[in-house]
Amino acid sequence: MLEREAVGVRRRVAAGLMLLFGGVVLLTLAVRHPDTVSWAPICLWREATGTLCAGCGTGRGMHHLLQGDLMAAWRLNPLMLLLGIPAAAIVGLGEGVVLVAGRRIRWPAWPSWLGWTLLAVVVGWWVGRNL
Ligand SMILES: [Zn+2]
Repeated sequence: MLEREAVGVRRRVAAGLMLLFGGVVLLTLAVRHPDTVSWAPICLWREATGTLCAGCGTGRGMHHLLQGDLMAAWRLNPLMLLLGIPAAAIVGLGEGVVLVAGRRIRWPAWPSWLGWTLLAVVVGWWVGRNL
């Protein structure tokens, strides 16, 4: 599962910086609701169209989740809970292995149907939540 070839120092530093950034974002979301701060990113799709994108509610949902309110997080964006968090956890795990062990995880190749299915789920969610 781990590649024999070690990664370079720059790649390990990049992994550490990504994990640090992710940790700061999570810590910030744990203590501050995105609607209460002026520097929270806005959704450009929502600003332009007035409709929700597939990711709308993720920041607010993560705040509620980190506060222990799973149902509030679910109401804001269930796709975040079902796909976003597992995807972020997989990326975080991979970067953690790079940082600590200096090696990459060799993930099994995805079958092409899985990528297309995930894309269809995201687009379906995006369209469906605005009907
Ligand atoms: Zn959005």
